[in-house]
Formats: sequence, C-alpha cells, structure tokens
Amino acid sequence: MLSAEQRRLSSHLDQHLNEARWRALKAGLRWYWVINLIAILFLLTRFYIFRDAHLLLVNVLPWSYEWQLITMACVCLLLPMGWLWLSRQPHAVWQPSLWVCGLCWGMAWASVGYTISIVDLKGGFNLIFNMVSLLLIVLETGRRMLNNWFELAVSREHENLVLARKLDAMASRDPLTGLANRRHFDQICKSAIAQGTTLETPLTVILLDVDFFKRYNDHYGHQAGDECLILVAECLEESARESGDLVARYGGEEFVVLLQDTDLAGGERVAERIRHTLAARALPHEGSEVAPHLTLSQGIAQWRQGESLVMLLERVDGALYQAKGEGRNCYRLAA
Ligand code: GH3
Ligand code: MG
Ligand code: MG
Repeated sequence: MLSAEQRRLSSHLDQHLNEARWRALKAGLRWYWVINLIAILFLLTRFYIFRDAHLLLVNVLPWSYEWQLITMACVCLLLPMGWLWLSRQPHAVWQPSLWVCGLCWGMAWASVGYTISIVDLKGGFNLIFNMVSLLLIVLETGRRMLNNWFELAVSREHENLVLARKLDAMASRDPLTGLANRRHFDQICKSAIAQGTTLETPLTVILLDVDFFKRYNDHYGHQAGDECLILVAECLEESARESGDLVARYGGEEFVVLLQDTDLAGGERVAERIRHTLAARALPHEGSEVAPHLTLSQGIAQWRQGESLVMLLERVDGALYQAKGEGRNCYRLAA
C-alpha cells in the first residue's frame, strides 16, 4: 500500500522536484540563517574590539560601519517572518522572490566586505578578496555537485513512486477482465458497511455465477472461455451505474456487484438489467441446459444493520445456490 506521503506527492516529476526542493530549502535555510547571524555578531564584536584598539579607520566612509552591521543583524532577525510569508505563496511566487532576496542579501554582504577592506587597518582587502573568491569557487562547485546528486535522488524517488503506484493499481485489479479484484471489493464493501452503520443507508450485493461454464470451456476451449468472461464483465459494467456501484471479479467465473445506497428492489432491477444485457449479446453456449446462449445465476442480499461482510456474503451465496438449484438463468433474494 502507498503511504499518505507518497499519495500526496505529485506524479509529475517537475512538481515532485519542486516539492523536494522546497523541503530541502526549508531544512537548509535554517542553518544558513544561524550561520549568518553568528557571522554578523562575530563582525560586530570584532568591530568593537578593533575600534577600541584603534585598528580601524572609522571616519573614511560616508556611512557608519557599526550601523551597517547593526542593520544587517536586525534584518537577519526579521528574515524568519519573510520566510513565513514565502512559505504561503505558490511556487511561481516563492522561487523568484527567493532569488531576489538572495541577491539583495548577497549585495549586503558584498558591501560589508567592501567596508572591511576600507576601514580595516590590518589591510584586509587582499585577504578578503582572496578569501571571498575562494569561498565562491568552493561554494559554486559544491552547489553544482549537490544539485546533481539531489536531482538524481529525486528522480529515483519519483521512479519508485510511479512504480509503487502501478503496483498499487495492479494489486486491486483483475488482470483478465480489468475489473476490481476480490481484495479491492472486500476493502470497499467493508467501508460501505461502516458508512451504512453510521448513516443508515441501504446497501445491496449481487453475487453472479456463469451457468455451465465448465462445459463452455470444454466445448469452445479455454481461450474462448477467457473471452467469454471479458464479455460478462463488459455486460456487468454496462448494467451498473457509473458512480456508487462496484463491479468486481469474485474468483473464477463468479462476479459480484456492490450497490451503494440501494435496497433489495433496486438490486432486483439491476439483476434484471444484467440478464437482459447478456441475453442481448446472445453468446452461443451449446452445452447449456437452460438456454441456447450464455446465462448467469444471481443471488441478491441487502445488508442488515450489525451484519459483517462475511455474514452478508454467506447470505448472498445461499441465494445464489438457491438460484442454481431452481433452474439457473434467474435470481433469488436472500432470506
Ligand atoms: P454451474 O452452472 O453449476 O455454475 O457449473 P459451472 O460449470 O459453471 O461451474 P464449475 O464450478 O463446475 O466450473 C467452473 C469452471 O470455470 C471451472 C474452471 O476451469 C473455469 N474457470 C475458472 N476461472 C477461469 C478463467 O479465468 N478462465 C477460464 N477460461 N475458465 C475459468
Ligand atoms: Mg462457480
Ligand atoms: Mg458456474
């Protein structure tokens, strides 16, 4: 079964990649913010120590180095609020906004570098220039490597997700007829029973079995038998409503129809419709003792309050058994 997280993720790689980027950013930006704050506080402390030791040229710039750092500290402290706003924006807004914020913040740091290179008597221009160039080269190389790994990891995750979805879909389908399988029917029927228990809505089940199917196989061959089951599946789907009804292959040549919000009389109408749809197709069945064409026997049961799925299936199976015993090509209602 797929996890809730896997279901939530988009099946489109681009969107999946964006969601993964967003999650990675959320984790990375926290650290980035802490490091920035530490760096600004370090520079402020260094500023006061160097100024008191008369190692700074404080009057050579039209602006105050001290206030430049204090402003940056304040902006840095306010950044989480900006992040909060960004996180509520759609992808088309947050990504360019992040680029603009990153650019402005980078320029703020560049201006600090420039200020240091001017005011610092320790003559740090060359030092800062070399360090910043080195840092940029290292950062860009690291960023590219990490981004490649990141995209590779996300595309693998995406492939796994697509595969898991396919498996999930296959696990609930019958490969021959394309109908829901018994596992899926059991799941849906259990939740319909739970819903019926709380909302007190009626729920009806029809169990169907192809008459003299063994003889059909023996006479026309197994391949023709498979095609016959596909035709029966088509007739059932044609006779059921598009929403609220579930047609499933119960096993072998037995099928089941779950009719939600339907009582016994509604179930009878569907059973009649199925009988007519199949009769209209008139698939020849020479081995049948009840008709010259393929027919079905049907059992119908309406779920009762307090009844479990197993009890309901036992009752509907009893009705089908009765239909078989009383001549086939008919339906019987469960007691
Ligand atoms: P009844 O009228 O009493 O229902 O008799 P029946 O012959 O239909 O029932 P029986 O249980 O004796 O035989 C069912 C046959 O269905 C036996 C089995 O080989 C065949 N069958 C089950 N699944 C498949 C399938 O997927 N394809 C084909 N071709 N045959 C299948
Ligand atoms: Mg059978
Ligand atoms: Mg049969």
